[in-house]
Amino acid sequence: MTAPLIVGAGWAGLAAGVELAAAGRAPVVLEAAPRPGGRARSLAEGRDNGQHLLIGAYTGVERLLGRIGVDIDTAFHREPLALHVADGDEALALTGSRLPGPLHAVGALAGARGLGPGGRRRALAFAAAMAMRGFRLRRDRTVAELLARHRQGATALRRLWTPLCLATLNARPEHASARLFLRVLADAFGGGRRNAELWFPRTGLGALLPEPAAAFIRDRGGEVHTGERVRALTTSEGAVTGIATRGERRTGPVLLATAPWHAARLLEPVPGGHELADRLRGLGHGAITTVYLRYPRHVHLDPPLWASAETPSPWIVDRRTAGEPGWMAVVTSADDSGRNRAACAREAATTLAALRPDWPPALESRVIRERRATFHPAPGVDDHRPAVDAGPPGLWLAGDYTSTGLPATLEGAVRSGVECARNLLAAPA
Ligand SMILES: Cc1cc2nc3c(=O)[nH]c(=O)nc-3n(C[C@H](O)[C@H](O)[C@H](O)COP(=O)(O)OP(=O)(O)OC[C@H]3O[C@@H](n4cnc5c(N)ncnc54)[C@H](O)[C@@H]3O)c2cc1C
Repeated sequence: MTAPLIVGAGWAGLAAGVELAAAGRAPVVLEAAPRPGGRARSLAEGRDNGQHLLIGAYTGVERLLGRIGVDIDTAFHREPLALHVADGDEALALTGSRLPGPLHAVGALAGARGLGPGGRRRALAFAAAMAMRGFRLRRDRTVAELLARHRQGATALRRLWTPLCLATLNARPEHASARLFLRVLADAFGGGRRNAELWFPRTGLGALLPEPAAAFIRDRGGEVHTGERVRALTTSEGAVTGIATRGERRTGPVLLATAPWHAARLLEPVPGGHELADRLRGLGHGAITTVYLRYPRHVHLDPPLWASAETPSPWIVDRRTAGEPGWMAVVTSADDSGRNRAACAREAATTLAALRPDWPPALESRVIRERRATFHPAPGVDDHRPAVDAGPPGLWLAGDYTSTGLPATLEGAVRSGVECARNLLAAPA
């Protein structure tokens, strides 16, 4: 039996690779970049390509980490749910309650401060209405429309829903799918308290999953090649038969685990691939800018996660959680501002100066813009996301953009990779 060929060593490709290797079908993984990890990777300089935050509801990631021998308690700084959003001299504070099961979310909202007059009551009524309908919508619409229907006021929109929507969907409420947003709320708040926990990686992203996953695959006879771009898919009689890199051709079933825009390029010339390629390009994309700012080592944020209600509503993470005391990550989602790096660094420093006026000035900064961080979660997007087996015969798709029902997240990528591998394993040889 020929080894499965995985194109792309992002979290989806690696999740698929681990699943296959564990089942005795050790794959060959080909990654174009110098390091594995894709959109959640460590750069050569050691810094991550962007701050990533996980939640306790990421059961797929947790299972995968367990399988490759990464201990959750060592890997993450875990905190109970706590959202703090600064708005001038005021702030929203929403912290987890001790109530069991889904009631913990009710307790958290009931105890929230800073939602404006009547805001707490209306937020609770909204949560109850969504829970009653199982967090599902018959017709998708924007998050802003959904919130307006449920009479969420300007203060709640500014301090709670907009920062939450940006953090989870990488889009503003007026552009984002309400269905996807409700799925996030259901996963984080519809289950037990643990689901809503915030998980801050204690290490760089590379050491968290990509490197141990690659080691797991190699230990079971697989191969992981970096700096190896797949140039084309090879075909015969309408089926995909393998891949071609600059130097060689390999034959085997193909798991295409790239981002949708790269998958579209490889699928376009394949017989019957044009329509799928068009569909993938139609998913669009959104940017995320992360500004890392260094302060003296003693400077810290307590709690380590804050947001600003001031547009563009950036989130701030104290990198002490990742063993980098004094460093802050200021994350701007859906960043279509076109600001240059110097302006990004200046604005991030201004945000922190407003949040903590007593801090000294930042000593240095590093700006990383991921122009294509996630697919765009427009209303109705789920109707266009392909299943893992939507490709031509001989090829399976894996990636955060496939039809997982989740937004573009690490959890979506991992679940997609595992499902893709299981499909391949179940296919006749
Ligand atoms: C700045 C930023 C912050 C984020 N924050 C969060 C967060 O806090 N929480 C969260 O859950 N998610 C977050 N995300 C989203 C998350 O990182 C992605 O959803 C996830 O990493 C996507 O994984 P993937 O495997 O589907 O795709 P990718 O990571 O894009 O992996 C695809 C891989 O394929 C490779 N490739 C492409 N073309 C070829 C080719 N021709 N040949 C060989 N290899 C190829 C690429 O180099 C890449 O390594 C964030 C993303 C960014 C960019």
